[in-house]
Amino acid sequence: MRSLSQAFSVLALAAVLAAPPAQAAEPPRVVASIAPLGSLAAAVMRGVAEPTVLLPAGASPHAYALRPSEARTLASADLVLWIGEALETFLEEPLATLARPDAAVELMEADGLILHPNRAGGIWGAHHDHGHAPGAAGAHHDDHGKIDAHLWLDPRNAAILVDRITDALSTRDPERAAAYRANAVSAKQALNDLDIELAATFAEVGDRPYVVFHDAYQYLEQRYNLFPIGAVTVGPERGPGAQRLSRLRDEIASRGAACAFREPQFTPKILESLAADTSIRIGVLDPLGVEAKPGPDGYFKLMRALAASLTGCLAAGG
Ligand SMILES: [Zn+2]
Repeated sequence: MRSLSQAFSVLALAAVLAAPPAQAAEPPRVVASIAPLGSLAAAVMRGVAEPTVLLPAGASPHAYALRPSEARTLASADLVLWIGEALETFLEEPLATLARPDAAVELMEADGLILHPNRAGGIWGAHHDHGHAPGAAGAHHDDHGKIDAHLWLDPRNAAILVDRITDALSTRDPERAAAYRANAVSAKQALNDLDIELAATFAEVGDRPYVVFHDAYQYLEQRYNLFPIGAVTVGPERGPGAQRLSRLRDEIASRGAACAFREPQFTPKILESLAADTSIRIGVLDPLGVEAKPGPDGYFKLMRALAASLTGCLAAGG
């Protein structure tokens, strides 16, 4: 049996471990590639420090060239959070040549993520048969090129990312591990609430077909049983050919798609010509949340803005 004084010293030790010492080291300098990751990191770091988001508002991670100032930001980071080369291809080389290669954490590698393979082609099958195998969650990590990298658009994946970011921060900054863990618990509770809220919001429009500019929303669509019929572009940087556009026009007409969604990151000329030829309404979807400040609430604003845009346009036709 422990003596009273031993018990007191255990308590005293616990108190020392729980609170950072007065002369605590600087918190790690965290850089996130894109705003949604910056927001999730900000939620974990709430009350400690603020992460930096690398990509400027309005830029697309699919086609980006690092500026010298951004390369310096990367070089001085203690922790760099990115999805992986399937999304931020422009980061692959700079991260491989970092003086501290262990600074980078490729979040696509996180255990437990729900992963979907890239959808083939630009026009997809009937409702709830979007043309991919449902068992994709176990897809192997070597198949990065085949995995759809927009994985943050499922709140269950966001919760996994929160855990991975918390681990990465706690390893680099063990003094504040308790603070990161407490923040992570709140963030994951909020993500769970958001998931329930979005399921209720999307239930109204799940049977209404629509078209997107680039195939970025598979995670959202699968989670909430939405009905996308196709994407205008093959890749965001590649425009559609005449044949594909004419097929898309036919599909819009035959399947009664009411809305086509452009993105703030890309020019909408093709969608405008589609809208001129069909009765389709044009909405805006922003997969990165360029409007939202990448603070702890940025991810939630991003997801609610997507829900508002989708339901706003799709419900408008009655
Ligand atoms: Zn994309």
